[in-house]
Amino acid sequence: MYDVAVIGAGIIGAFIVRELSRYDLNIVLIEKDTDIANGTTKANSAIIHAGYDAKPGTLKAKLNLKGNPMFDKVCQELDVPLKRIGSLVIATNEEEMESVKELYKRGIENGIPDIKILDGEEVREKEENISEEVIGALYAPTAAIVSPWELAVALAENAADNGAKIRLESKVTDIEKIEDGYRLSLGSEAIDTKYVINCAGVYAAEINEMVSSKDFEIYPRRGQYNILDKSAGNIIKHVIFQAPTKLGKGTLVTPTVHGNLLVGPDAEDIDDKEDTATTSDRIHMIRQVSKKITTKIPFYTTITSFSGLRARPSTEDFIIEEASQAKGFINVAGIESPGLSAAPAIAEYTIDILKEIIGNLEEKQDFNPTRRPVIRFMELDDEKKSELIKKDSRYGRIICRCENITEGEIVDAINRHGGARTVDAVKRRARPGMGRCQGGFCGPRVMEILARELGKDIKEIVKDSSDSYILTGETKQNQA
Ligand SMILES: Cc1cc2nc3c(=O)[nH]c(=O)nc-3n(C[C@H](O)[C@H](O)[C@H](O)COP(=O)(O)OP(=O)(O)OC[C@H]3O[C@@H](n4cnc5c(N)ncnc54)[C@H](O)[C@@H]3O)c2cc1C
Repeated sequence: MYDVAVIGAGIIGAFIVRELSRYDLNIVLIEKDTDIANGTTKANSAIIHAGYDAKPGTLKAKLNLKGNPMFDKVCQELDVPLKRIGSLVIATNEEEMESVKELYKRGIENGIPDIKILDGEEVREKEENISEEVIGALYAPTAAIVSPWELAVALAENAADNGAKIRLESKVTDIEKIEDGYRLSLGSEAIDTKYVINCAGVYAAEINEMVSSKDFEIYPRRGQYNILDKSAGNIIKHVIFQAPTKLGKGTLVTPTVHGNLLVGPDAEDIDDKEDTATTSDRIHMIRQVSKKITTKIPFYTTITSFSGLRARPSTEDFIIEEASQAKGFINVAGIESPGLSAAPAIAEYTIDILKEIIGNLEEKQDFNPTRRPVIRFMELDDEKKSELIKKDSRYGRIICRCENITEGEIVDAINRHGGARTVDAVKRRARPGMGRCQGGFCGPRVMEILARELGKDIKEIVKDSSDSYILTGETKQNQA
């Protein structure tokens, strides 16, 4: 029997399971998909918000404020890129300037450090390509950018290094109360656990209703994005938001930690919790709206578009509490934005609730907070590159020519705890396929490496979901 089962391997489940792995507990992270971070965590703006936006007094406000400064330590321990580039909320007229001032007031009330209001000239000093229309902005130097999926993968890997089990492709289909805990049905199998933490994202209400009454609902709200080539990555240096107006929050423009440019999202309430399609009308609209920030975005360098689903709660705040009718079953639900920014603080808050239920937890003496560093070949100097190639010739073989990713890096991404099993999982960890050709050239090579390392037939290698086969059979079989 497990002590704690965490349902959902997004950034929230991953942070919680890593925190739990500090203690002497038998824990399991359960995920329905083929990889960690395959839900909302792989498709968002990737911003560690400063924290001026959330309504004062809410969990969103408190946990964003607490979570933001926690990222430096965890990203350093786990070797995950983080950049504190700061954010600007721009105003192009007096009405928008009023809402910028409102945000400033809210930021002060929320306790956000070092925020200030800049005039148009001061904004232009920071951002040479900003629109001439900009008359002022709210500047928040503590805002940062991160790679959410790399962080979730690293957290889960570190938890596994410290003894946690990770179960992918294990959808929780039912939960039964048993004498000393819960029995979780995972398709044809079942596991028993004393305590459950529900981090199932847009499905958190369905999971809660397996053991409790309808305490809350989660509505999916889709946001679409354009991502541009690295050649456009330094047009903007900060995260740039538009001032909120009666028509909404507008779209943002930001560099990514890997040097691309991200433009989006919009906001669209939808019914289908699986619908992460992008649509040409919305993408067109996002491009138009972004012109308020700068007209210099070269959209012809767009490399792809994608969308993510916000888990919008009926309560309008994060729901982090024991379920009303299920002792030892904690919901961590409705984690919409700023969920990523608050994630490390959400994990601590959740574990405090667990401690209240269980009593004190015993810390392990041998918990290791770091993971084996990731080799990013192109970031090494020439001497280190040639030393590495001498030791392992796979680092001398470039597989992805857009991002310059070597075979050694791909093999490493597969052979770690919670390592990659699909083409997209390799892409998320080591970045082959993240460049201009989006895997057009390196995709088949990545499939060969995956098949070889996992001891599978290449026809069994999938792109992402368990039924997303790429090869179905050989052609020209009957020709001599
Ligand atoms: C468009 C958009 C922009 C955003 N921008 C930001 C931002 O810039 N900054 C910020 O702080 N926040 C942002 N957010 C919010 C942030 O992305 C989320 O708060 C965060 O990713 C939520 O993580 P999660 O782990 O709760 O959910 P998820 O990542 O969705 O993880 C839930 C997991 O549960 C799994 N699951 C579901 N049902 C089951 C089941 N039955 N059995 C097993 N597993 C199951 C899913 O497959 C999934 O992997 C944004 C969100 C969106 C959509």
